[in-house]
Amino acid sequence: MSGPRVVVLAGGVGGAKFTLGVREALRRRDAPPATVVVNTGDDLWLSGVRLQPDIDSVTYALAGVNDTGRGWGRAGDSERVNAELQAWGAGWPWFTLGDLDLGTHLARTGWLREGSTPTQVLERMAGRWELGARLLPMTDAEVDTIVHVRDGDGERAMHFQEWWTRHRAGLEPIRFENPGIADAAPAPGVAEAIAAADVVLLAPSNPVVSIGPILAVPGVREALAAASAVVGVSPIIGGRVVRGMADVCLAAIGVETNTAAVAAHYGARASGGLLDAWVLAEEDASAADAVAAAGVHPIVAPLWMSDVAASAALAEAALAGA
Ligand code: GDP
Ligand code: CA
Repeated sequence: MSGPRVVVLAGGVGGAKFTLGVREALRRRDAPPATVVVNTGDDLWLSGVRLQPDIDSVTYALAGVNDTGRGWGRAGDSERVNAELQAWGAGWPWFTLGDLDLGTHLARTGWLREGSTPTQVLERMAGRWELGARLLPMTDAEVDTIVHVRDGDGERAMHFQEWWTRHRAGLEPIRFENPGIADAAPAPGVAEAIAAADVVLLAPSNPVVSIGPILAVPGVREALAAASAVVGVSPIIGGRVVRGMADVCLAAIGVETNTAAVAAHYGARASGGLLDAWVLAEEDASAADAVAAAGVHPIVAPLWMSDVAASAALAEAALAGA
């Protein structure tokens, strides 16, 4: 095998769709499989089990067992155990866990309890399928995301999942925090893979709560500075977030919901930021000059990841930009 060594930084659903495209693009080039560094800031403990939503989204999608209609969880899942948990008043009434999905969480929690690290658990889980990519958690530390929201004249804190799923990001966020992240280390292999990469691709994932935590792990930015090229893909098309509520997250960190502002948030490598190039949508082509003026090479491409072919074309554009 020859071809570029590619690392993808990914969140959940957007990260998974993009990773499917990268896998396809690399297969066509007979290049080695990508290493995918997945956000673990969404992780949480619920009803005694450890959930890793972004890791599961990427794993299930690469394995082809994800529920594409609903956008999360396993295809064809049932909810018998969830109904029983609700009858007990256990867990969160607004947070559904499928039966097959709970099997994943039970297996993971058991292995963690027996002393395996999250990296070892993911390696074991990924080994069940031919994923065509190497998956790594961003860190082995538990660094769940906490959201501080306005509450009258004061503020209160809640887990990101409560804010996102229960409140649909409807409570105004003041800031996002990953307690403990300043003392966290990249998971084994993460910094090494990034620093040795011919190209690192930032998936069009949520810049604040998916890519943000990965970049906040000490050592990741330094590793990115050592990579040969870093190319970001815009999560914004036509001045809007495609799905989800990423605009609310961007507002909380003072970034406007437009592609040039997100590119500027990541910053140009030439001025201490991350990016060599930025892939932006045809609908946002007029922003290309602003991106270039900020010192980042703009690449205009179709950004809708409607199927694997479209995601692969997007991945090809990003790889060509490197
Ligand atoms: P989550 O962790 O499951 O919320 O997913 P991610 O953070 O990986 O991805 C969510 C982001 O993906 C959203 O903010 C969207 O803007 C972006 N997104 C979703 N679908 C598409 C698409 O087809 N094209 C692009 N460019 N971005 C997308
Ligand atoms: Ca996520």
